[in-house]
Amino acid sequence: LTVLGAEFFHRWMIACGSAVDREADRLTELDSAIGDADHGINMRRGFAAVTDALEKEPPATPGGVLMLAGRQLISTVGGASGPLYGTLLRRAGKALGDAGEVTREQLAEALNAGVAAVAQLGGAAAGDKTMLDALLPAAEALGESFTAAREAAEAGALATVPLLARKGRASYLGERSVGHEDPGAASSSLLIAALAEVAG
Ligand code: ADP
Ligand code: MG
Ligand code: MG
Repeated sequence: LTVLGAEFFHRWMIACGSAVDREADRLTELDSAIGDADHGINMRRGFAAVTDALEKEPPATPGGVLMLAGRQLISTVGGASGPLYGTLLRRAGKALGDAGEVTREQLAEALNAGVAAVAQLGGAAAGDKTMLDALLPAAEALGESFTAAREAAEAGALATVPLLARKGRASYLGERSVGHEDPGAASSSLLIAALAEVAG
């Protein structure tokens, strides 16, 4: 049984920062096709703030790490993705409570709660061509393994290509949103891949 402490969550957030930094141009390019060409910039700014905040005042618990990260995303990212990802992490962190260590199964449950909060805030459901199309299957598959979660997120992000966007800026394009990967689903896949990477 793997137990995950604050250190693990800290490393996950740092790995998210590296991944969005590395892939920022691709995320912005995806957003230039069906949005306003800022998703990579938004994510990079948000996770740079997360990294800074964690280094200044490292929280002692897994829940504390996720809640601090979520707060940073909400306060530094102007776009839709900031409040949505911020809500994901804050709600998941709240679900972990003040436990010093958690299991993968507990993290899976917490992520499911976070994903439900994102759906409620944004009013989107599976198949609407949003970050949820990667996050919903990933949180579900995390009950099985980290690798299953990574694969589910990747598949979910790629499966947004043929979809018609029903939420967010991309929905303004109607049929013209078809044929492009959703930027938020792509970034969600990066965050879950970072989790699997840190889990080894
Ligand atoms: P903005 O659209 O404000 O410029 P970003 O470009 O940073 O914000 O993020 C866009 C992404 O946010 C989309 O690709 C989509 O995945 C996600 N998104 C937008 N609106 C919603 C929503 N209502 N529910 C879930 N996800 C959404
Ligand atoms: Mg955008
Ligand atoms: Mg924008």
